[in-house]
Amino acid sequence: MSPPLLRAEGLAKHFPVLGGPLGISEVGSVRAVDGVDLTVARGEVLGLVGESGCGKSTLGRLLIRLLDPTAGSIHFDGGDLMAADGPALQALRRRFQMIFQDPYGSLNPRMRVDEIVTEPLRLAGRSRQECRERAPELLAMVGLTREHGARYAHQFSGGQRQRIGIARALALDPDLVVCDEPVSALDVSVQGQVVNLLRDLQRQRGLSYVFVSHDLRIVRHISDRVAVMYLGRIVETGDTKTIYRKPLHPYTEALLAAVPATRPGAPRKRAVVQGEIPSALDPPAGCAFHPRCPLATDRCRIERPALRTIDDREVACHVAETRVS
Ligand code: SF4
Repeated sequence: MSPPLLRAEGLAKHFPVLGGPLGISEVGSVRAVDGVDLTVARGEVLGLVGESGCGKSTLGRLLIRLLDPTAGSIHFDGGDLMAADGPALQALRRRFQMIFQDPYGSLNPRMRVDEIVTEPLRLAGRSRQECRERAPELLAMVGLTREHGARYAHQFSGGQRQRIGIARALALDPDLVVCDEPVSALDVSVQGQVVNLLRDLQRQRGLSYVFVSHDLRIVRHISDRVAVMYLGRIVETGDTKTIYRKPLHPYTEALLAAVPATRPGAPRKRAVVQGEIPSALDPPAGCAFHPRCPLATDRCRIERPALRTIDDREVACHVAETRVS
């Protein structure tokens, strides 16, 4: 088996919480990401799912060093990403890109669209001539025309703006793209078109994606593998079909039970958890999911379950074996 494109081990991001009389003393920390191991293979789409506040967007940013981790290591294409700096880090940054949730806020309103999509080329030192030549190709790649290049971002719909963001992200032919909720700000009517465009481009170009989303239907459609996060940790990960067919972690099961049925009249699955995700400032002891878990035992309140391989996936739950059927 070929080595993964990206490997993260023990990755953590703790944000300090300031307080005290002057408001400048560190009085705690928010454990947004708290010891994550994961890999992304070449040409693979890894779906990263969980409720709002589970740490998935922070993890996506850590993986491409838009944020520096508090602890842990990241290896990209065999090289130590944490050790890279200066020109070496700049060169690596061209090999991974990010597609943002908000197509409105991520595009410069004062630049023409052909300038927006070729800006990464210009910043990488490519000539004006090359940028002019590449702009129509990049626009065509996402279903836009040469004429669109002469307009400004506010003249486009949300779906078209996200297409512009995708063209810009792929301008330097990256290997890995972190897609952070790339369609959640769009009308439902265009979400499918943009997801299909992302999937087509991924297949044509052999890209790897980390696809961050709270929408499990979209993740099922686009992902080869899925990782479920809860309070900064991965609680279940494996092949998408395996996880969706038979989730073993009660939290994964609850997320899947909450997905509306696509078939009219199909019975709704029974939701198995209630309540809100606890604060990452003061996570519960033992298994962090225990206050919401209908299967919790005394052991769960004391002992944190490790991620273990069970039935073709990795899962962090003390009773996962008993749930294999
Ligand atoms: Fe529920 Fe216990 Fe499993 Fe945590 S370890 S998910 S509390 S059964």
